[in-house]
Amino acid sequence: MVQGFLIKYAEIGIKGKNRYKFENALCEQIRIKLKVLAGEYIVEREQGRIYVEAAGDFDADEVIENLQRVFGIAAISPVEVLEDKSWDAVTKAAGDFIETQYRDYDFSFKVKAKRSDKHYKYTSPEICMEMGAYLLERFSELKVDVHDPDVYIWVEVRDKVYIYSKVYSGIGGMPLGTAGKAMLLLSGGIDSPVAGYMISKRGVMIDAVYFHAPPYTSERAKNKVVELAQLISRYTGRIRLHVVNFTDIQMYIYEKCPHDELTIIMRRYMMRIAEKFAKDSKCLGLVTGESIGQVASQTMQSLAATDDVCRMPVYRPLIAFDKQDIINIAEKIGTYETSIQPYEDCCTIFVAKHPVTKPIVDVIRRSETKLEEKIDEMVKAAVETVEIIEVN
Ligand code: ATP
Ligand code: MG
Repeated sequence: MVQGFLIKYAEIGIKGKNRYKFENALCEQIRIKLKVLAGEYIVEREQGRIYVEAAGDFDADEVIENLQRVFGIAAISPVEVLEDKSWDAVTKAAGDFIETQYRDYDFSFKVKAKRSDKHYKYTSPEICMEMGAYLLERFSELKVDVHDPDVYIWVEVRDKVYIYSKVYSGIGGMPLGTAGKAMLLLSGGIDSPVAGYMISKRGVMIDAVYFHAPPYTSERAKNKVVELAQLISRYTGRIRLHVVNFTDIQMYIYEKCPHDELTIIMRRYMMRIAEKFAKDSKCLGLVTGESIGQVASQTMQSLAATDDVCRMPVYRPLIAFDKQDIINIAEKIGTYETSIQPYEDCCTIFVAKHPVTKPIVDVIRRSETKLEEKIDEMVKAAVETVEIIEVN
């Protein structure tokens, strides 16, 4: 069994003087992810990387799987760490380590050495040679290939000796909590969960808001959104999901406004309400799953008409993505299957046959004046009756 995991990070390595903040945030996120697993873990930063020491009854595959959902990690390697730097101990440990990592030895390898302890008795090339010879003798099926090996075996001599070989790729990005918080408009579709994942990948924590229109949208449709929030929270961490009853507002817009403008006006009210919650939750922006041209409400004119009601920045991580690219990410992060379950969405229920595709902001504003009598009251009621679901 391995003793620990060596974690390499990419981008946070270049943050200059603030680097320790990013490293600490990453360590913290790693601790959170490992806390729920069996075993005990000590997470430490050391010289440009992170070392997780594992003890007790842990499952290495499970640890790796969880670490592969932590933003900020470039690569993860199971590692053997030795305090005893005597050459006999090092070679024996390397051989034992290979036994734990590989089922058969039908592969070619190359030893790579790094030596920051300059007093060590062997130089890096000597470590490679001596270790190679030892391994060839111990595992007769192994072959050396210095140009294109199947497997690299790393030996790093620092204050301790680190031996590792397998490299599991991480998901990259920036550690959660290094970039503030944003409010995601989360529907039951394919796009918005991916948008939440994407913004979160840059270190942004998220809360979410879902507009629910009972009885036109069912309890099952709401549960689908809760499930999507749960699925992305495996990456994004805790999400406070605001479920807003939007029915009265939608009906009122339907009654008072031109039907070809329904979608755009409805979306403007969604943004207004989302922004209220965003302010209360100290968010720095709103996030949607929109992408230019995908539907009538996502032309550049429509996006401008929705932005017209927002004072906060609106982030649209998928703005230039093709649908297929979005689907690929949804599949990778495990939201796709849930997203395609066919439950009704409040946007599709009141949708016009021929929605405007190039709304003019002044025209839309004028249409909205028809709502003056009751809309403020309705928005207030929608905000006050919000249901908050803690998703983790
Ligand atoms: P999605 O797949 O995310 O539902 P979509 O392609 O269906 O997106 P629209 O229905 O036009 O597109 O919605 C655009 C964006 O508006 C969504 O990505 C989401 O951020 C937000 N949105 C739409 N409907 C809702 C809703 N009922 N509750 C919260 N946000 C919503
Ligand atoms: Mg949708």
